[in-house]
Amino acid sequence: MAAAHLVLFDIDGTLLRTEGVGVAAMLRAFTALHGERGFSFEGVEIAGALDGLLFRRMMETHGLPHHDEDHARFRATYHAELDRSLTPDRIRQMPGAAALAATLAEKGAAVGLLTGNYEETAQVKIRAAGYDIRLFPFGAFGADGPSRRHLTPVAIARATSHHGRAFDAARVTIIGDTPLDVDCAKAHGCRAIGVATGPYSAAQLRDAGADLAVDSLADTPGILEWILAP
Ligand SMILES: [Mg+2]
Repeated sequence: MAAAHLVLFDIDGTLLRTEGVGVAAMLRAFTALHGERGFSFEGVEIAGALDGLLFRRMMETHGLPHHDEDHARFRATYHAELDRSLTPDRIRQMPGAAALAATLAEKGAAVGLLTGNYEETAQVKIRAAGYDIRLFPFGAFGADGPSRRHLTPVAIARATSHHGRAFDAARVTIIGDTPLDVDCAKAHGCRAIGVATGPYSAAQLRDAGADLAVDSLADTPGILEWILAP
C-alpha cells in the first residue's frame, strides 16, 4: 500500500530551524561580493521563497548584474559562509520530523525534499541538524524553477527516476510551513500538510488549503496513518 506514496518535505520551518543563520550567511555573501551596500531582506517575504529568486530580487534592488556567472559566484560564497557559520548549536530539528521521515521510508514510501534552498546549502542544513542525508536521496531545489509551483513536477520526476516508478499526484504529499508549500501541492493535485512550526498558524495553513494542518509533526503515528491511507 505504501509503495505508491511519495512524501516531499520542505526544509526551513518544517524539518529544522536555523534561527536566522541562513539569512545572515546570505547577506554576508552579498556584502563579500559587492561591498557594503546596506543589503537587507527588510520587507521581503523569505518564508517559502526560492533562494534563486531572492538572489535575483536583491541584485535588481541594488542595480547589480544577475547573470548565470554572478549567480554561481553568489551560490559558492553563500555555501561557504553557511558551512562556516552553521554550527550545531545554531540549528535544531523540528519535533517528530526525523521519526516521520524515517518511518515513511521504512514503510516503503518514497521520501524527498521540495525546498527553496539551493541543493548544496540544503545539504549543509540537513547535515548540521543531525539528519541522515540518505533519508532524502532526491529533491527539487531553489534554482530548479522560477517559482515554488514549478518545483513540484521537478521533484516528482526526480522521485520517478530515483525509484524507477511513476507516482500518482493523488498519492503525493507535500509537507511545509507556509501557504506557498500548500499552493505548490494543490496546484498539481497533490495533498498538502501544513505544519505550524514556522511563521504561520495551523488555522492560517488550513485557510490556505492544507488538507491536514498540525501544530507540529510530533504525532508521528497519526500523521503516518493520514499519509498512508489508501
Ligand atoms: Mg519553509
